Amino acid sequence: VYILGIESSCDDTSAAILCNDRVLSNVVASQKIHEQYGGVVPELASRAHQQNIVPVIDQAIKQAGITKEDLTAIAFTRGPGLMGSLLVGTSFAKSLALALDIPLIDVNHMQAHILAHFIDEEGFDKPEFPFLALTISGGHTQVVKVTNHFDMEIIGETIDDAVGEAFDKSAKILGLPYPGGPLVDKYAQLGNPKAFPFTKPRVDGLNFSFSGLKTGILYFVQKQLKENPNFIEENLHDVCASIQYTIINILIDKLKKASKETGIKSIAIGGGVSANSGIRKALKEGEFKYGWKTFVPKFEYTTDNAAMIGIVGYLKYLQQDFTDMSIVAKARIKF
Ligand code: ATP
Ligand code: FE
Repeated sequence: VYILGIESSCDDTSAAILCNDRVLSNVVASQKIHEQYGGVVPELASRAHQQNIVPVIDQAIKQAGITKEDLTAIAFTRGPGLMGSLLVGTSFAKSLALALDIPLIDVNHMQAHILAHFIDEEGFDKPEFPFLALTISGGHTQVVKVTNHFDMEIIGETIDDAVGEAFDKSAKILGLPYPGGPLVDKYAQLGNPKAFPFTKPRVDGLNFSFSGLKTGILYFVQKQLKENPNFIEENLHDVCASIQYTIINILIDKLKKASKETGIKSIAIGGGVSANSGIRKALKEGEFKYGWKTFVPKFEYTTDNAAMIGIVGYLKYLQQDFTDMSIVAKARIKF
């Protein structure tokens, strides 16, 4: 079975070819244009998808060493995401499926961030059911109870900013370029995580809140700058380490609570922020401290990519779960 996966929910145009659950190619065109604006500009994202989609799909097919006539089915991201971006991938997937007369499969982007763990990769184990998934990305922060591939329940989520936003907005306060998450991570590794104690928000149950933390960091930095205009340059590593330490503590606290409440000790992470070195380390420590079994995906399957769309396509293909031409993109969808 050859599946073409197409991802266009935000600012990355991506296409992948899977042969069953193995990835033959995974091409990602990241849009650089947004850097100068300090965030994703939806209108510009749609235009760039429009330009990228044909060459990206072409390249994925070539790299896989197949032709488009070999394709068994096409899977695409239906949502959630930016409407204008989703429309490009959705329309393209529909047209190509129609032209090739093969099945079309719609994929939920957040489910795909979780099911990326089911890609067959050497050195990476697939989690056994049930497990808890912590999806941490630019737009989401969720704790999901995964009972089966398509039986997922969100048991906790953010009530305001996503964790990726918390990283990016903190980075912006420090004058770092967008997206700042990876930079905060880089500098954090050189600093003292306990240098500056930031207050953790109090949120009931398994939900998260990050907007208060961002404001706390802003006020703290402004106050320090008044006393010392070089505060940021002189303390960049310690500030980044302290921010990262606080964010990771928030995430681990909720995971501990979720694990206790559900009795589930298998924990898988997904989404762009799972690239963070601090969260990876904290999860590993959880194996000793709390008896967890943890699963971290291969780096290229953490941020937005089409291989994760392809694996969901394959799993749905096995169930002959196809959609028809009346399908429309949706900016907001739950599971
Ligand atoms: P969503 O999946 O919710 O629609 P998205 O697709 O835009 O959002 P991803 O591509 O999954 O998000 O993740 C991007 C986010 O991950 C950005 O906020 C980025 O700063 C953050 N990020 C990436 N690498 C790291 C890192 N090493 N440390 C912290 N944050 C990181
Ligand atoms: Fe994503």
